[in-house]
Amino acid sequence: MRIHAVIVSATFVATASLSAQTSDCSAYSRDSSVVALLHSLDAVAAVGSVWDNYTLARHPIVLVDQPRDTTRSGCAVIWRYREPLQEVTLGSRIRMSTPLYGMWDGNAVGPHPTANGQIIQTALRPVPAELESTLRSRGDMRAVLLTAPIRFDELGALGKALAGMKADPTIVSTQLAVHESYHLHSQIPVWLDQPHEYSWPKWDVQPDRRMLTSRCYSADNVSDIHRREMEALLRAWDIVKDSSSESARGQLRDAARAYVSLRLERYRIVDTTSVAIPGGALRCMAAEDMMELEEGAPQWMSYDTAVRAGVMTLDAVGRSATDAFYVSGTFQLWILQRVVGRDEMRRISGRITRAASPTDKDASIFRVFAKRVAGVDVKPPASSSRHSSPES
Ligand SMILES: [Zn+2]
Repeated sequence: MRIHAVIVSATFVATASLSAQTSDCSAYSRDSSVVALLHSLDAVAAVGSVWDNYTLARHPIVLVDQPRDTTRSGCAVIWRYREPLQEVTLGSRIRMSTPLYGMWDGNAVGPHPTANGQIIQTALRPVPAELESTLRSRGDMRAVLLTAPIRFDELGALGKALAGMKADPTIVSTQLAVHESYHLHSQIPVWLDQPHEYSWPKWDVQPDRRMLTSRCYSADNVSDIHRREMEALLRAWDIVKDSSSESARGQLRDAARAYVSLRLERYRIVDTTSVAIPGGALRCMAAEDMMELEEGAPQWMSYDTAVRAGVMTLDAVGRSATDAFYVSGTFQLWILQRVVGRDEMRRISGRITRAASPTDKDASIFRVFAKRVAGVDVKPPASSSRHSSPES
């Protein structure tokens, strides 16, 4: 009750002050850091598809500036490749998913959302009516929203961490544009049982990320082997990232085989370990396959596109993360692309996103990597790996 009263009065104050706001957003898209980001979005859109038929060139991005000073109105500018920018003055604040980005989906949820869809449904937020009507009038039914410019000093602990990493705000935002737009336009429409223009496996169901990390990666009995496994993968990447010589191919195969065998060894150790999913559980192998698809793939496509666009260099690519599936997914895909070439990579990603079941030979980045890069056949997890409850 007390909380409710506080929220009501805060809302009243915000509404009252917004009515007295200034409302000139005509200069927003000429701000130098916004201009830099717009050029960067143009550059990544010009690269075209690196994964199946997905490209940022087909989707709008809304840049949003919401000053802390609520007497000033927020501004938005809608970007779409090779189309004029459109500025919108915001009459109320947008609730972003994180301080850096938000998502808007104007489509109704279909009758049969998947388990992932039922979760994401509650996280999607409306945008102010003036922005929604502008997007709809352009025929845009979904959009990723990015905070621009990113001001590290206004982001608390996140801003401190990004500043400490010497993160370049333009690169951070460009990667988010590609990565989050993939979630929004490819995965989420399938999860929400909506019309969709890209393929994504309907059987995809997200395991508990924290449980996956603590049980499959960092538990005492596997943390050392997992560390060596990731070292072997990065060794393989370092061999192939700048070279395509025959001698490098031999070294690559050795490093890739070391990676595959260490990972399979780890799966033997965690043989009875499982990770919760909505309504059940998965073994580590199946859970990691799922997260490499969900997060490793968008992460890789955002890196590869940004590097090819000249927005970032290969050396700036992150090589570690607590949620190691981002890193393992990224580098398996990148090594695979170096080995098979860009055209075959797009065919492979097309087959991955259309795989009929999680045990399909194309349904796992790890199995495709093991086969095509290391020459090792990895058996899919048995279908009985889906348990009714997680075991430790
Ligand atoms: Zn993501």
